[in-house]
Amino acid sequence: MAGEGVSWRNWSGSVEAEVQAIVRPADEEQLRETIQQAPSPLRLVGSGHSFTPLVATSGTVVDLAAFSGLIGHDDVQTTATVGAGTKLGQLTELLAGLGQALPNMGDIDKQTVGGALATATHGSGLGLGAYHTQLRMMRFLDGRGAEREFLVDRDQEMIEATGVTLGVFGALTAVTFQNVPRYNLRRKRSMQPLGQVLDNFETLMAVHRSAEVFFVPFARHALIQTLDMTEESGDFHMTSEDEAGLATLKMLRTYLKWLPSLRRLLIGNAMAKLSDEEVVGEWMKIYVSDRQTKFNEMEYHLPFEEGSGALTEIITLIEKHFPQVYFPVEVRSVQADKFWLSPFYSRDTCSIAVHHDAAEDPTAFFRAAEAIFRRRGGRPHWGKMHNLTASDLAASYPRFRDAMEVRRDLDPDNRFISPYMARLLGIAP
Ligand SMILES: Cc1cc2nc3c(=O)[nH]c(=O)nc-3n(C[C@H](O)[C@H](O)[C@H](O)COP(=O)(O)OP(=O)(O)OC[C@H]3O[C@@H](n4cnc5c(N)ncnc54)[C@H](O)[C@@H]3O)c2cc1C
Repeated sequence: MAGEGVSWRNWSGSVEAEVQAIVRPADEEQLRETIQQAPSPLRLVGSGHSFTPLVATSGTVVDLAAFSGLIGHDDVQTTATVGAGTKLGQLTELLAGLGQALPNMGDIDKQTVGGALATATHGSGLGLGAYHTQLRMMRFLDGRGAEREFLVDRDQEMIEATGVTLGVFGALTAVTFQNVPRYNLRRKRSMQPLGQVLDNFETLMAVHRSAEVFFVPFARHALIQTLDMTEESGDFHMTSEDEAGLATLKMLRTYLKWLPSLRRLLIGNAMAKLSDEEVVGEWMKIYVSDRQTKFNEMEYHLPFEEGSGALTEIITLIEKHFPQVYFPVEVRSVQADKFWLSPFYSRDTCSIAVHHDAAEDPTAFFRAAEAIFRRRGGRPHWGKMHNLTASDLAASYPRFRDAMEVRRDLDPDNRFISPYMARLLGIAP
């Protein structure tokens, strides 16, 4: 059940912690025992794909990998109940076997259900919410080990209060997701001049079921990706083409960092020559990509109408002051929701993500980008790098204090509160 006195690190290597123990309870009884007896602070872990120190603790890391797999499903309602430790890749396979599908997905399927819900993980689509908007039921053990179950039909307010969990309301053991019947997607990709993309940005996001813009630094062009449902079938499978493109951008950055005009010319010409691409495949194969190159990331969720202005400023920032950046800037949209700790609370959102090579220090670039995002009313992705603390968050989330009261009721002894979580949420040690 436990490994003692060990180090823990996240996917990118930006967070490392010396912990007293990493505990892997096999069932609910062992989890209850852990919550009641293991050294504090307790932090739940999923796949460790967050860039912020959400999991870091000097106490106990609790891994719910044993709480994975299908628990039940309802064909009529198109719902499925799964363990919170289930990885998204495993979930997509389970759902495909039931004829069900997730309405949307982010870039990868390595995260766990519990981890995705904790940080408001999302894909793109102005008519599509983040994963937590699919919640019909949440089951967890609270800070004293008591079982709690919230049903959307009975306890809607509690689901909205705790659905973006941050791992501070308890240890999530199972959830029921509202799914949709399985479907196929047509993915179109084209390279377009930047001015054209910025002029048509809001229409692009509104017209397609899901649209993403990847602005390539120094290219004066952006890759547009749109996903729309189709009755056609296709057998698209993930390729490593995106990783190969990234390797080329890194090489050009390394040799031409101080020759921006030449870099612009070479990348711009190469981009303009890329031909359009169209593929069809099953939903889960189209959404997900392979992310091999390690990076650190900051993503801010802005009021939708701020999107193209913020993107323009970020592009100028990179090209004038941070020529080391070679990762594309990723722009998505997300539908408004009612979850108290959701960055999409009460507003349709344009999400802009900046990435930095994990082997290099991102601090100066991320600070400068964050100033732009904050000036435009952005809220940070909970799992991606940012420098906000409780007073900033309370000012930006209308129901932040209400959510903290619910947290206090569910974890009165602050078992799940590490020093980082205390600073983030304004909880006295
Ligand atoms: C390569 C890469 C691609 C990404 N793509 C996207 C994307 O497309 N969209 C997006 O929004 N984000 C994306 N992310 C961010 C990622 O989805 C989030 O950081 C997510 O939280 C990671 O899930 P995890 O299972 O690794 O959780 P961890 O990082 O291990 O934990 C995150 C939080 O979840 C809590 N937690 C985990 N399990 C439980 C549980 N059972 N009960 C209660 N709390 C729990 C932890 O305590 C912690 O607070 C990406 C990250 C990487 C590294």
